Amino acid sequence: MTENKIKAVLFDMDGILYDSMPGHARAWLAMCRAEGIDAEYDEFFAYEGRTGASTINIFFRRQFGRGATEDEVKRLYGIKSANFASYGPPPVMQGAPEAVAAVMDGGALPVLVTGSGQASLLEKLEKDYPGAFPPERRVTAHDVVHGKPDPEPFLKGLEKAGAVAAEAIAVDNAPLGVESASRAGIFTIGVRTGPLRPGSLLEAGADMELDSMNALADILPSLMADENS
Ligand code: MG
Repeated sequence: MTENKIKAVLFDMDGILYDSMPGHARAWLAMCRAEGIDAEYDEFFAYEGRTGASTINIFFRRQFGRGATEDEVKRLYGIKSANFASYGPPPVMQGAPEAVAAVMDGGALPVLVTGSGQASLLEKLEKDYPGAFPPERRVTAHDVVHGKPDPEPFLKGLEKAGAVAAEAIAVDNAPLGVESASRAGIFTIGVRTGPLRPGSLLEAGADMELDSMNALADILPSLMADENS
């Protein structure tokens, strides 16, 4: 039992630790409207985890039948980022502090695995989740060559936790994030904190799909004791 105990729980940031996805979606949509690009609010939740360039290219191919140039990507992503920053810091996700506390109470290490490199949120982590995510237990956009859905971010997270896949649980809200964790061989919980269709995270490879971080906080203590035992 002890040798199979869960040693680490790997948490995504946007849409898991922070309720930041509505702001990202709103920022993308405002940029698209201003630039005459057709887009819908909900679709950004499906694209979460893609690079800015990749998301912009989806729109360009759909609307203009070509990819965006490097200059266009830089300009449009700049507008999106400025929109997001103008909304102020996003709220902490309901239930997330309780879920992180459950991990620590259970004697496991929380680890951050985010594709984001957004300094404003990363700097807020210590205040909102004191002691949970010290710099040596963070994987951000700056630590990886291949982002989600490549398994690299979650594999790096395991390395930073000193754990192997069977000793860990991964928590992500986006299809691409779930795919990344699942490809890293980790038991993956998809938490549908946005408007994704029920079942979509299971289809992306999640071992379990929940509809809130509160539900995760409730179930984590038993999962950490039972998983792989
Ligand atoms: Mg996310």
